[in-house]
Amino acid sequence: MSTNGALAGRTAVITGGGRGIGPAVATALAEAGAAVLVAARSEDQIAAVAAKLRDEGLQAWSLHCDVADPDSVEALAQGANERLGKVDILVNNAGIASGAPLHRQSLQEWNRIMAVNATGTFLCTKAFAPAMAQRGWGRVVNIASLAARTGARYISAYAASKHAQLGFTRCIAAEMADRGVTVNAVCPGYVDTDMTTHTIEQIMAKTGLSEQEALGSILATTPQRRLIEVEEVAHVTLMLCSEAARGINGQAIGIDGGEFLG
Ligand code: NAP
Repeated sequence: MSTNGALAGRTAVITGGGRGIGPAVATALAEAGAAVLVAARSEDQIAAVAAKLRDEGLQAWSLHCDVADPDSVEALAQGANERLGKVDILVNNAGIASGAPLHRQSLQEWNRIMAVNATGTFLCTKAFAPAMAQRGWGRVVNIASLAARTGARYISAYAASKHAQLGFTRCIAAEMADRGVTVNAVCPGYVDTDMTTHTIEQIMAKTGLSEQEALGSILATTPQRRLIEVEEVAHVTLMLCSEAARGINGQAIGIDGGEFLG
């Protein structure tokens, strides 16, 4: 797929844009011609991502945002509209994960995960999508997870938050279907980012396995025996933002090597 200029004149906000999947998505959209704004809590990280893109001659800005905080999301919407003029594309990528068996799953941690992954997606979509619908064109891509479609041991809070994100995706897709806005979810398996590194560290701490063994235990659950690369997630996100994808709405696109076949 040639993406050169495919998003010329478009504008995009990518949450969780400071590390991992977010910068790869921002790069793909900016290389396709969009002006992008990356948002997250670590200002040094988002500033560095935007600066790198600008060094490459692309249009990029950064703004602090905690997606779990309604005031912060409101400030993001205001700041993004000031810098970009309008926002055509929203990528709800900000997310957190942790694992625990049910009897050790604290309410505090449950609420923390739901607040970022589920409520953050709601707040950001509410802040940007109605204006897209008013203008008659928009794309919302929610970076969900394989855990939005399946369950597994020790990830009840994370999986519940991602199921919520996917259910929300389908509902807003239905609401926006006749307004020129599509809303889809991308559902990767384990991606090679800090989030997976942290999972490996948790397995090592809890089981005494070496790093190689802990990684091996993760890879053993994946059909292709590998981690997904951030660029693979960025590629699908870019595809969903294209004009040619205007008929794809309310879908959950798996990037998991065939792990979920439902
Ligand atoms: P990551 O490397 O840990 O990066 C997460 C990004 O989200 C960071 O930029 C982080 O920045 C930001 N973030 C976290 N909490 C935030 C908040 N409250 N407000 C704003 N930004 C926040 O994670 P990743 O692997 O790239 O994951 C990105 C998305 O993909 C997540 O939604 C995750 O659930 C999903 N996903 C990941 C995997 C995987 O295996 N890695 C698999 C499937 C789906 P700050 O901490 O500075 O705010």
